Amino acid sequence: MTLLTTDKHYRVCPFCEGMCGVEITTEAGRVKSVRPDRDNVWSRGHVCPKGTTLGEVHHDPDRLRSPMIREGNQWRKATWDEAFERCETLLHGVRERHGPEAMAAYLGNMIAKCFGVNRYTGEFLKQAGIANIFSSSTVDQQPKNLACQLMYGDMWRIPIPDLDRTDLMVIFGGNPAASKGSIFSHPNVMQGIADLRKRGGRAIVVDPRRTGTAKKADQWIGIRPGTDAAFLLGVVHTLFDEKRVRLGHLEPWVEGAAAIEALAADYPPEKIAEFCGVEPGVIRTLARDISEAPSAAVYGRIGLCNQEFGTLASWLIDVVAALTGNLDREGGLMWSREAAPHLKLSPPYPSDAPVITGYTRVRGAPKVLGQSPAGCFAEEMNEPGEGRIRGLVTVAANPALSAPSAGAVADGLADLECMISVDIYLNETTRHAHVILPTASVLEQPHWDSWAWPFALKSGGHYSPPLYEPPAGWCPDWEVMLRLGAICGGARNRDIDIAALDDDYFAGMCRQVGIDPAVAMDHAPDPGPERILDLAIRTGPYGDRYGENPGGVNLATFKAEPHGIMLGEARPCVEEVVTTPSGKIELAPDFILNDIPRLEKALARPQPETVLVSRRQLSSMNSWMHNVDTLMRGRHRCTLQIHPADAARLGVEEGDLVRIASSENAVVAPAEITGDLVPGVVCLPHGWGHDAEGAEMQVARAHAGINSNRLSPGSALDVPSGNAVVNGIPVALEKAAESAA
Ligand code: SF4
Repeated sequence: MTLLTTDKHYRVCPFCEGMCGVEITTEAGRVKSVRPDRDNVWSRGHVCPKGTTLGEVHHDPDRLRSPMIREGNQWRKATWDEAFERCETLLHGVRERHGPEAMAAYLGNMIAKCFGVNRYTGEFLKQAGIANIFSSSTVDQQPKNLACQLMYGDMWRIPIPDLDRTDLMVIFGGNPAASKGSIFSHPNVMQGIADLRKRGGRAIVVDPRRTGTAKKADQWIGIRPGTDAAFLLGVVHTLFDEKRVRLGHLEPWVEGAAAIEALAADYPPEKIAEFCGVEPGVIRTLARDISEAPSAAVYGRIGLCNQEFGTLASWLIDVVAALTGNLDREGGLMWSREAAPHLKLSPPYPSDAPVITGYTRVRGAPKVLGQSPAGCFAEEMNEPGEGRIRGLVTVAANPALSAPSAGAVADGLADLECMISVDIYLNETTRHAHVILPTASVLEQPHWDSWAWPFALKSGGHYSPPLYEPPAGWCPDWEVMLRLGAICGGARNRDIDIAALDDDYFAGMCRQVGIDPAVAMDHAPDPGPERILDLAIRTGPYGDRYGENPGGVNLATFKAEPHGIMLGEARPCVEEVVTTPSGKIELAPDFILNDIPRLEKALARPQPETVLVSRRQLSSMNSWMHNVDTLMRGRHRCTLQIHPADAARLGVEEGDLVRIASSENAVVAPAEITGDLVPGVVCLPHGWGHDAEGAEMQVARAHAGINSNRLSPGSALDVPSGNAVVNGIPVALEKAAESAA
């Protein structure tokens, strides 16, 4: 563990889209302090508790520092060569016995935070030829990706709320007080909301919980989980009914407004109010507020996505923005103008291609935009038959905690013939692996927020150099991904020419953005992710295009500025964004409208007495920061939040154990009684359940909590996108004895 500098070290916390700059000091080779970097051009001194634990994450004794091979129940350290040889034996064995269709990959969202893994995951999949791709996307934002693919022609052109210039911020299903911004990069969302209110604007939160964000807003609209699509149809109805629709400068760009009007005519607020648990007048007033505000930014996040009607709800957010003239305008929703648009380096998902790319083996569920639904993961491993998953590669993923039907997922993982994990921990998922290939620690690798800047309305960047050298002989993360991909695809480890593979990969990216690969390689001959980042910057809107654009920026420009560089702000750019076959914004895609009858059926059915939603916590990053002692201090956080009226009905008092049963499973959690919920809604945090035998995360084990995804039925999907439904799960509650489960 060699320290690369004893000076103050400036970098960006990689854990979320907040992109907070930090200043790190060291003493005797160890991190002594992590403080906010007040000179960081983006975050200006903001940091949350997670960011200050970068040193603890790096020094964590449980973090893996060498490849690991499992022999029976015993793990042993291995050399990289040994580990890759074992991968070859296992992966090729599965291919020979069952064919490549028995291989799957499960990708986690921490890939986005890992410099080398992030830039090579796509190439890993290409080399590996894996057809069954599961990821956290289908527990997270797949509905938004689908809506954007169909509306704008590009799943990643997600419009972002312009909080700093808006007059009204409306948040559906998001809680920046805990998550900062999610698919919404902002230096400090809560400060942005405070500033908005100071300048006379308003903030409104629509959510089943009065979240930390709702408490700082002007209004909380408590809504029944899973009903946002109906609510938003009521808003759209009001806009048309009261002649409030104004497309503004988007008038020539929008196709389908008449179809939306015809659809929304059937959804007066009075029709859907009871379903949503919201008075019709509240829905109408919100529609008026949005249309009358000089500008309004309507933002929908994860609570809108991982629910029964995730696609309809996520789509309607953008429909409301467009109908009120708040799409592609300052103060409304805008598209980023990223300085290093890495997504442009690969061919985009074709805008004229079908969004359904296949069907799962067991249930026949559509694979949308190349993704198999995470809700089908367990059955694809467990159900016998041709094509059953027998070999798996997980990358920075913990589906044993984060995927629906988590109990069945764990059973399936335990039974695989071959499982290879790229991960820094031996955790609830990777304990089932046969080989674990660790990545470098957050402080041993460079960082650039490739998955945060596309969601920021200010353009710029801050490059973070590594603070420590990885251990001697370390295989760089990007090489791990390339090598593993090639082995998966059938290559023999000893025959792989990594340099040639990487040059080919890089040359393809150069050609994608119209650059002669020879010119680019002349400027940056060293293989690896830095030359890819350099290519993205140079070919971005501010880049030098390898000398074609004198005065433009490149990676060296950013390396010279440890506090980052800001280059500009978003501006209306619909003409650059829209790539649909019609060349228009498709406001009413048939693929989405086809889901309306399902919503109609739901409107007619009886409502369950109690439903479960999940919550995120400021001191957690999904499942994986629970091994940081500093973040785990204080009162136990894995509690079942329950409304006082529901607690009284059940005879439950604060701290009592409650048995929570869904159609999938049952768990027991201590009650936390709070009025910050809609009655009939209970809430568990996700990412807990660290008591699995064989996992080696000592701090997390001491605060195990329970796994909320043991309750999420894999059968519950948002049909158009295949996204898992983890919010709005019908549950039955009863006061439990301590041992009941
Ligand atoms: S986790 Fe997010 S908000 Fe917290 S310090 Fe890191 S980047 Fe900032």
